[in-house]
Amino acid sequence: KERYNKENKAPERRTKELDGYVGFANLPNQVYRKAVKRGFDFTLMVVGESGLGKSTLINSMFLSDVYSNEHPGPSLRVKKTVAVETSKCLLKENNVNLSLTVVDTPGFGDAVDNSNCWAPVVEYIESKYEEFLNAESRVNRKILSDSRVHCCLYFIAPSGHGLKPLDVEFMQRLHDKVNIIPVIAKADTMTPDECNQFKKQILNEIAQHKIKIYEFPDTEEEEEVKQHKALKDRVPFAVVGSNTVIEVDGKKLRGRKYPWGIAEVENLEHCDFIALRNMLIRTHLQDLKEVTNSVHYENYRCRKLAGLGTDGKPGRISNNVAPQGVMNSFMTVWNPLAQMEEEKRDHDAKMKKMETEMEQVFEMKVKEKKQKLRDSEADLQRRHEQMKKSLEQQLRDLEEKRAAFDKERLTWEQQNGVTLQELRRRSLEANSK
Ligand code: GDP
Repeated sequence: KERYNKENKAPERRTKELDGYVGFANLPNQVYRKAVKRGFDFTLMVVGESGLGKSTLINSMFLSDVYSNEHPGPSLRVKKTVAVETSKCLLKENNVNLSLTVVDTPGFGDAVDNSNCWAPVVEYIESKYEEFLNAESRVNRKILSDSRVHCCLYFIAPSGHGLKPLDVEFMQRLHDKVNIIPVIAKADTMTPDECNQFKKQILNEIAQHKIKIYEFPDTEEEEEVKQHKALKDRVPFAVVGSNTVIEVDGKKLRGRKYPWGIAEVENLEHCDFIALRNMLIRTHLQDLKEVTNSVHYENYRCRKLAGLGTDGKPGRISNNVAPQGVMNSFMTVWNPLAQMEEEKRDHDAKMKKMETEMEQVFEMKVKEKKQKLRDSEADLQRRHEQMKKSLEQQLRDLEEKRAAFDKERLTWEQQNGVTLQELRRRSLEANSK
């Protein structure tokens, strides 16, 4: 039962100790077994000029030839433009399968004019988000293969002079699309002091340009806090890669042999390779995937569903086409983006139709009114003409009658030798007497 405190705030939960063993303590094991059975997938992108040791580092990291001979490392390939290439391999360790995809960007930063060379990388990352969004929108979405880029290792040249403009531009363009982990390449080319100074300078520039690199998740567990701090203090990771195993005092180790000594790859006093590998594979692989899903993919999804272009500017919502196989199986494919666009189109068409109909009705009414006004004006005019004509006729008749009367009076006066005026005067005199 949930009890509510007096202010009616959050419910208070009581922890109950069970009297016996029910079995849900085994739940984590169930999840564990299922996860192991399913296996894990991880997509790692490496970006940086060619020759910075990207393929060597990846091979050292997974202790295997991720870049096989059929798929030569970028240093063996001459590219004029930036390409995006993927290498997949299935790694197995203690019965746990990891399907690793390494995305490489040969040609990045190698041209004379490197403006826009980040564009194919952004395109690739977003095409993977789009693929995932389409897969999520299908009715049958049981097998959601996740090929989104979970982490991008950005290789900084060990110049000792901070970030190049291309480094800043790339990270600014990509930091809200993918987890960026900056890496200083070929750290064995710098002394420890130079390396520490270089790291500080890079962190300052990252802060100055408001670049958001991958951040370690908050934790309250003391052990984890310590672990995170140890890792965080080493960012940006200064790494050394080597594919050769050297024997020192009967011990085999990966390293680079120089006349003055050996730079050991897996020695934390020589470089941060182990810290980076532990973080990427042992401690934060799952968090990198979660941040990709809940932050970067979510950002993409929101922009897309809001009808904005992936650059955040308004644009057309692309129509997601359902795969032929699904259509053929007569399944109804519900695609929210396509549906939204269709509804919008229907609505616009309806409004347009209503508008034209209303305009037509209005025009008809105006025409009718004008015709009525014209008719009544003509009617008035006609009646006026008739009245005028009849009055003129009456006037003419009266004038004729008057002329006839005058003529008759004159004849009478001549016959009787007296005028009518004289007669009127005489009768007035007789009356007064
Ligand atoms: P990519 O083009 O970035 O993939 O570079 P590669 O991995 O092909 O390496 C280019 C060259 O740099 C090769 O000769 C490597 O042996 C060398 N190299 C790789 N990693 C390191 C390193 O950490 N330090 C030094 N000094 N050289 C390295």
